[in-house]
Amino acid sequence: MPQGDPYGIHRSLEPKGALPQPAWRIDNTMRCYDNEILIDVETLNIDSASFEQIRQEAGDDPPRIAQIMQRIVAERGKHHNPATGSGGMLIGKAAQIGDSLRDRTDLQTGDRIATLVSLSLTPLVIDEILQMDRKSGQVDIRGQAILFETGLYAKLPDDLPLKVSLAALDVCGAPAQSKKMVQPGQQVVVLGASGKSGLLVLKQARDNLGPKRESAERIGRLIAIDRGAAACERLRQLDWADEVLDLDATDPIAVMRAVADVTSGQMADLTINCVNVPGTEMASILATRDAGTVYFFSMATSFTAAALGAEGAGKDVTMLIGSGYTKGHAELALQLVRNTPQLRAIFTERYGR
Ligand code: NAP
Repeated sequence: MPQGDPYGIHRSLEPKGALPQPAWRIDNTMRCYDNEILIDVETLNIDSASFEQIRQEAGDDPPRIAQIMQRIVAERGKHHNPATGSGGMLIGKAAQIGDSLRDRTDLQTGDRIATLVSLSLTPLVIDEILQMDRKSGQVDIRGQAILFETGLYAKLPDDLPLKVSLAALDVCGAPAQSKKMVQPGQQVVVLGASGKSGLLVLKQARDNLGPKRESAERIGRLIAIDRGAAACERLRQLDWADEVLDLDATDPIAVMRAVADVTSGQMADLTINCVNVPGTEMASILATRDAGTVYFFSMATSFTAAALGAEGAGKDVTMLIGSGYTKGHAELALQLVRNTPQLRAIFTERYGR
């Protein structure tokens, strides 16, 4: 086979010459170019915002969810949800390694890997959907995928259950970015703190801030927000956050008032949004002090809602887009799960098999 473009441009069909992520449709022929890796896919981890949207559209009916997933891949050659724009990632076994890559990779045929690039740019064929976990968005399939020359991947460790690693790697950008951002002494809000990225971020933020102290000598304050009594009780038991608030993140005024209350009106220096539903931009912005920072990890974030909403409210905050990648992100997330018994237990209970 010939050599393809390192970024995968050779596979873009509509429009031709586009990068594969923004392309509407890509070529998902499962023939491996010289600089590609062919993967026998075992499990797709559909991005949480995307899976939530598909569940809603399908009335939470598994056969209809499966139909929508098949339709997306048939139309686009990739699992790129047109409603949310997001993808997810996968685990599978390397079935073929292109000739020109063999000397440049430590990967062997048969090795099990997780892709660390989005399904929204990954050529994919779904032959059959075998099993679906509607809570986690993990879907076992029979199918194949292609990784481009520049595509990042991680070999899966053998000391963690496969699906625990898959869940942690799906959101590994969030704790790694948080490690760079959270500074001792800050007041930090985590929205969606009980989800998988939220929990990893919460633990990383606690580590950065240092141990909890009595109020008089507090160095920084960590505020966890999620919805529902059960989620909040679990967060309290973890004892990483100084405050746990049971709030709907789509209600910006309630969030703003509650954060004002627990910060004596100072508001957050940094707000990290890990929610998986639309409409939470303003809660993030209003929870944050002037000149503070909002980190939007959520894929359900609207650029226009955030930009125009901040302007409309006269909030001078720095807003960061949550890139899925930062150096060392995969290892950091796996280490957090490995070294934190509570995280390991929750991830194993929710995702592990
Ligand atoms: P998750 O495990 O589904 O967690 C989402 C959390 O938000 C859950 O605890 C959920 O509670 C909570 N939540 C939902 N609606 C809420 C509301 N109205 N108020 C308060 N809390 C609410 O999701 P995840 O896998 O961590 O992903 C989080 C976000 O990151 C998603 O938007 C996902 O698309 C995005 N993501 C981004 C990247 C990137 O590269 N930037 C990569 C992967 C994922 P319930 O369980 O009760 O619904």
